Amino acid sequence: MRSAVVVGAGVFGGSLALRLVSSGWDVTVVEQYPPGHVRAASGGESRLIRFAHGDNDWYTRSARRALDLWRELERETGTELVVPSGVAWFFTEAHGWGEESERVLTEQGIAVERLAPDEGARLFPSFDGRGLDSILLEPEAGVLRARDATRVISELAIERGAHFVTGKAEPDGDAVVVEGERLEADRVVWAAGAWLAGLFPELVDLRVTRQDVYFFGAPAGWQAPTVPGWVDFDNGVYGLGELDGRGFKTSPDREGPAFDPDQGERVASEEKEHQAREYLTLRFPALAGSPLVGTRSCPYSLTEDTNFLIAPHPEHEHVWLFGGGSGHGFKHGPALAEYVEPLLDGEEEPDPVFGLGARPPGGGLRAPWIER
Ligand SMILES: Cc1cc2nc3c(=O)[nH]c(=O)nc-3n(C[C@H](O)[C@H](O)[C@H](O)COP(=O)(O)OP(=O)(O)OC[C@H]3O[C@@H](n4cnc5c(N)ncnc54)[C@H](O)[C@@H]3O)c2cc1C
Repeated sequence: MRSAVVVGAGVFGGSLALRLVSSGWDVTVVEQYPPGHVRAASGGESRLIRFAHGDNDWYTRSARRALDLWRELERETGTELVVPSGVAWFFTEAHGWGEESERVLTEQGIAVERLAPDEGARLFPSFDGRGLDSILLEPEAGVLRARDATRVISELAIERGAHFVTGKAEPDGDAVVVEGERLEADRVVWAAGAWLAGLFPELVDLRVTRQDVYFFGAPAGWQAPTVPGWVDFDNGVYGLGELDGRGFKTSPDREGPAFDPDQGERVASEEKEHQAREYLTLRFPALAGSPLVGTRSCPYSLTEDTNFLIAPHPEHEHVWLFGGGSGHGFKHGPALAEYVEPLLDGEEEPDPVFGLGARPPGGGLRAPWIER
């Protein structure tokens, strides 16, 4: 039986562990905090699942494949994880990204509709489309209950035989050391999210930033899935309808300050709160003046070009580095696990876009509003 140690039980590591144990691998997961914990990127309550990725076929297909796998996980665990709200993209100009997304989605048979700005009024109880060029609606997209998903993934992996070790792992050549105990396996995968660069400082170049999310009290009619998830592409703001009573989510998506995922204080910035309120007032006038009912702060781990990192260690061929979620990785979790398993088996080679080493700045897989 092949064996693997997976470090990290976020959506990347957890999904991979579940996939491997389900395929008959002997799997040990090392996690320093409980799965779904508040410090991890996968510990947020909700994450958008959208398929549009401009002209990028691979990510579009991966996100759509992931939806089927999320649905499978729902059936296997009896847990509602997918909130089928749709996702609406707002564009202030026709610069090509929306048009390319529409083309790729159509080619892949994924539902997509182009709406005029005033048609936003049929999606939201109060909507001001002034200044918009168009809206792109992905009716099959939606929201994932991320924290719940992260927890049930680990629970199912354990149920299927994965061993869980609680502790902080350190790399030691081909092996993993947890509080003095050395763990060895045929394959070791470091899926350590925002901690990955600190574990492999010579190899991994990730910028870790604090991203603040705001929840505003909203009246009846603003709940998901009635109200779609939304992304204002050019203004760099996204959100979703109230989910599970937590308020209407609004988040300015420009990169936040550098952040230490262990020691950093999770106190959301007042400046970003102000920006979130300004956006609500502009686009959803009925929510102007809504009370702030909660905040969350989570780490982005950003690669230079927003492509994920999936690469073997250059000196230890059986050790893999898996991360660089770059603010858009959650939705792909189970599809990435499906992609990575044959890499570990040596049946497939990873695409060089996921490799180590310098990458050109830019990318635009989360959205091209990324600033330096
Ligand atoms: C505010 C915010 C909004 C986002 N919105 C979206 C969205 O709408 N849609 C989307 O698809 N994605 C979104 N993302 C991105 C997505 O959440 C991440 O890409 C994804 O969760 C990354 O998962 P991960 O498993 O790589 O990292 P994590 O979830 O951070 O997991 C890494 C795990 O490794 C563990 N670990 C690290 N080091 C060690 C060690 N040495 N020993 C033991 N354990 C260790 C950590 O404790 C942690 O549990 C968002 C992210 C943030 C922060």
